[in-house]
Amino acid sequence: TVRTRFAPSPTGFIHLGNIRSALYPWAFARRAGGTFILRIEDTDVERSTQAAVDVILEGMAWLGLDLDEGPFYQMQRMDRYREVIAQMLADGLAYPCYMSPEELDTLRDEQRIRGEKPRYDGRWRPEEGKQLPPPPAGVKPVVRFKNPTTGSVIWEDAVKGRVEIANQELDDLIIARPDGTPTYNFCVVVDDIDMRITHVIRGDDHVNNTPRQMNILRALGYTPPIYAHLPTVLDQNGEKMSKRNGAMSVMQYQSDGYLPEAMLNYLARLGWSHGDDEIFSREQLVAWFDLEHLGKSPAQYDPDKLKWLNQHYIKHADDARLAELVQPFLLALEVDWTQGPALIDVVALLKDRAATLKELAEAALIFYRTPEPQPDEMTQYLTEPVRIALAELTQNLSTVEWARPQINAVLKAVLQAHGLKMPQLAMPLRLLVAGTTHTPSIDAVLELFGRATVLARLASFTH
Ligand code: GLU
Repeated sequence: TVRTRFAPSPTGFIHLGNIRSALYPWAFARRAGGTFILRIEDTDVERSTQAAVDVILEGMAWLGLDLDEGPFYQMQRMDRYREVIAQMLADGLAYPCYMSPEELDTLRDEQRIRGEKPRYDGRWRPEEGKQLPPPPAGVKPVVRFKNPTTGSVIWEDAVKGRVEIANQELDDLIIARPDGTPTYNFCVVVDDIDMRITHVIRGDDHVNNTPRQMNILRALGYTPPIYAHLPTVLDQNGEKMSKRNGAMSVMQYQSDGYLPEAMLNYLARLGWSHGDDEIFSREQLVAWFDLEHLGKSPAQYDPDKLKWLNQHYIKHADDARLAELVQPFLLALEVDWTQGPALIDVVALLKDRAATLKELAEAALIFYRTPEPQPDEMTQYLTEPVRIALAELTQNLSTVEWARPQINAVLKAVLQAHGLKMPQLAMPLRLLVAGTTHTPSIDAVLELFGRATVLARLASFTH
């Protein structure tokens, strides 16, 4: 059965490119009815923080990337890594190397002069009939993996196709430092084995680690998983998306008023495709996701497309849910939505035009704030015929049944009686009642404000 993992390093916030590396293994596991695992790669103690772990969990929860196992923390598995290292030493799969950093520097210089690639020369590697020098006193060795010296590592990458690396290119990887702590590539191998990972779906910045990891896996007697190396995500400038280049935290999108389903949809298409489909639900993603349609070239971040998707999802979102989601944004605008029209009716009216929850909250403002008088703007609309028509309208609105069709009928009747066009009346009406000319359909707006408010605001004009 399929087992996938997301293995982030908790060293700061995570951006869209990072969280995409969670979405794909999650979707792949869900489609296969498999298991999705979170592994926190926190061995860089200097840079790893609990706050960063929390942000990862928060981002995954926001997008609904639910876990079957984990989170596991590498720092809690140190004993296990040490155990495997000891076993590898005992089995002759690894060996202590006493070469000092100075000797390594000298070797590298010599190799550079000869025009060779710097690589460890295997001087402490035990071989049949080879005499090793006695270990220097008082030196703590590193432990190196005995990498095969012949043949090559070949794998069929789900994205890159067949990759072949000659073992000659790989030297004997250090798996433990002088203080005994395991190195990054080694921990990954032990984890992928212990967690029985079947598919490693990760960024292609790890592709150089793969042949080394595969060799260790095989030496330990395991069959390597399937690898899928995802091309990078480029930012708007065509550069690799990174915190340094100003990439935003995933959670920033939530604060900016994006819906999780819009983000999920967007990320799904950022490096994967299903025919020409641009809009699909979580269920469809899970039903369709495959490794065959992962993109082979870098995907570029397009904020306009994300916004377009968000607009789509807001438009189709349930009104009650939107009314909930918009509240933090109203709070930020210091709006008291308990005084005024019901929030659910307001979002129902406004959701067709808002690209973000923030925009929705801003649009909702008019229903909860007393409009400032706009005398300058009013004068351009207030011709004498309009003035008279408005007075009559006010009169008729005071008795009409308060519902959109009836309000509309009253408006139309007044327009006709005075030979006016809709905007000639609707614009000053909007200004008087809502304080702005940017509102949805005037009859709907009047209905929502309610008769009392509408008449009070029109009265303040006619007096
Ligand atoms: N910890 C690595 C990262 O943050 C991922 C390693 C892996 O997926 O094998 O990029």
